[in-house]
Amino acid sequence: MDKPFLDKLRSIAPYVPGEQPQDADIIKLNANENPYPPAPGVEQALRAFDAAALRLYPDANGRALKNALARRAGLRETQVFLGNGSDDVLALAFQAFFCSDKPILYPDITYSFYPVWCELLRVPYETVPLGADFRIGPRDYDRPNGGVILPNPNAPTGIAEPLSFIEDILQHNPDCVVIIDEAYVDFGAESAVPLVAAYDNLLVVQTASKSRALAGMRIGWAYGSETLIGTLEAVKNSYNSYTMDALALAVGTASVADEAYFRATCDKVMATRARTAEALAALGFSVLPSRANFLFVTHPRRQAKAIFEALRQQNIFVRYFSLPRIDNYLRITVGTDEQMDRLLAALRALL
Ligand code: PMP
Repeated sequence: MDKPFLDKLRSIAPYVPGEQPQDADIIKLNANENPYPPAPGVEQALRAFDAAALRLYPDANGRALKNALARRAGLRETQVFLGNGSDDVLALAFQAFFCSDKPILYPDITYSFYPVWCELLRVPYETVPLGADFRIGPRDYDRPNGGVILPNPNAPTGIAEPLSFIEDILQHNPDCVVIIDEAYVDFGAESAVPLVAAYDNLLVVQTASKSRALAGMRIGWAYGSETLIGTLEAVKNSYNSYTMDALALAVGTASVADEAYFRATCDKVMATRARTAEALAALGFSVLPSRANFLFVTHPRRQAKAIFEALRQQNIFVRYFSLPRIDNYLRITVGTDEQMDRLLAALRALL
């Protein structure tokens, strides 16, 4: 039978997230999740949550969470935007700011959701090759463009650039919006938030998924000038007024309230990262210098794909990307010390 409607359906290759196997016995190092639980206040907020309150729509403006984030960043509430995970914030930012005929620019090796949003939203783009050392060349971004997006630290390399680097990019791109995706910034990189006051074309996007161990709750936010945040709010309110549900707002606010727990958790992950990087190097891996909660590694004599598959057989899940330039690398999330010891033992036996 002829079905002409089939020609009218949108065809698009979606972003593919890391596998989420449900088996309790696995060591899951493939999605950059935090191995520790969220702050104790999060559990209290969940227990105290009144189910009857779900009758009402949530606060579309998320005032309590915005206030907590704004105070922490030394900004005003009107400089904070909230979303259903930072993917939601980023997708809305692409819609709000990347509206020119000129291509937006981002590195050839980076978060693989960026090309998907460009295709979905029909945003023209050009990828800029990283150097041979996987570093971003700031001068490569000194050309006419419709916007710039860079993750810092970059993913999946884990390499971070200093604040002076971000400021350099901003100084050379005053006529477009520059988005810095700081999904992994809390694990030892420098945040661009202090530049928000001086650059009204800067949007800094962060998430509670990694450093706050709340990937399952979907909480992300952005800091920027009132002009950028106002534009994002208008785009969000033209699409879905309630991207943040009431429970996520309560949980996010409880998480941001506990600075000490947040810092202690990030410190533990960073300590485990340092000792794992050393142990992997001792096994012959080259390990890129990471300021994220993962390590990007390659072995001179063993194929990354074969290691990935052998680990998977043993219920140890890491991430392998079959993409140009990085198809002999593995991205390994930093878990607990015990999880990393089990990974290292498996690798030792394999190699
Ligand atoms: N940016 C980068 C660079 C990421 O790796 C991720 C996680 N996949 C995100 C943004 C989105 O994270 P979330 O939607 O959980 O906040």
